[in-house]
Amino acid sequence: MVMIQKSTESTLVACDVCFREIPRSEAINAEAGDYVAHFCGLDCYHRWAEHAADDDAAKREPDARRPS
Ligand SMILES: [Zn+2]
Repeated sequence: MVMIQKSTESTLVACDVCFREIPRSEAINAEAGDYVAHFCGLDCYHRWAEHAADDDAAKREPDARRPS
């Protein structure tokens, strides 16, 4: 079987919040650490960003208080 890869513009990505599939070229991308999150619109992006901020704070807290 031969796999033909089309240009990434026709690739569908799933929104990280509502899991709707959108063309990668129309998705909003946000770097989240070591992976890139995709969103169908600003609504979903803002919803995700709130949670991501919480996560970040929770993860950073113990790090900042590292005993010397
Ligand atoms: Zn969405």
